[in-house]
Amino acid sequence: MSLIKTHGLVLKSIDYGEADKIITLFSNNLGKIQVLAKGSRRPKSRLMTAIQTFCLGEYVLFKGKGSLYILSQCDVQQTFYNLRTNLERLSAASYILNLCREVVQEQEANTLLFTLTVSCLNLLCYSHIQPSIIVTAFEVKMLGVIGYRPHTVSCVLCSGDLKGQIAFSAGLGGVVCSSCRFKDPHSLKISHGTLNTLRYIQDTDIKKISRIKINESTMNELDRILTLFIARRLEKIFKSKDFMKTVFGDLKKEV
Ligand SMILES: [Zn+2]
Repeated sequence: MSLIKTHGLVLKSIDYGEADKIITLFSNNLGKIQVLAKGSRRPKSRLMTAIQTFCLGEYVLFKGKGSLYILSQCDVQQTFYNLRTNLERLSAASYILNLCREVVQEQEANTLLFTLTVSCLNLLCYSHIQPSIIVTAFEVKMLGVIGYRPHTVSCVLCSGDLKGQIAFSAGLGGVVCSSCRFKDPHSLKISHGTLNTLRYIQDTDIKKISRIKINESTMNELDRILTLFIARRLEKIFKSKDFMKTVFGDLKKEV
């Protein structure tokens, strides 16, 4: 039986049978795959760390029945343990994994998204950047990577300049000018500051995201348009985002 070596991140881990786990692995070169980790819930299992959500490592697998893989061993590189000590950062990271579970296709490599996800988890775990900024950057860049980059250079409908009161149309896939905004009754008004921030995130390397400063009203506008756009494109409402926002809100009240 031939062994397969792959760089992977655990997106989800569920109990299976008496002592096994089935993990959803985001593999750098295989996309989303289901992996059976036999006996991994036994107290002395050497796979105990490899099956934890957020574990990043070099996984050694072999092909099982159908589309299932069997975990043979794993060289663990990162567990992002610190995320578990901060509810705000943990809820943000959980939402990011939730988005990955939705957009990564079975058995289809997406190296750009893999790299983006690992970069964002590193920032959440080890940087002092506000988690809401990291999540916003992940959402914007993820949309680009999966082919849904919002159109922001000109009006998405007439290609005209973006002057005066502009809006974002989730249905049309981008920013609409002051004349076209009435053609989509569901479009949301946005400020030029929000448009500039959106463009900046689209065009800036994720590792340079620490340079960005986003005020509260811009963040609220970005949150509204991205939530709407993602729900529309992925046809799904993410409860993990609602939970994350509740955590962010509660922490703000405590300050
Ligand atoms: Zn227009």
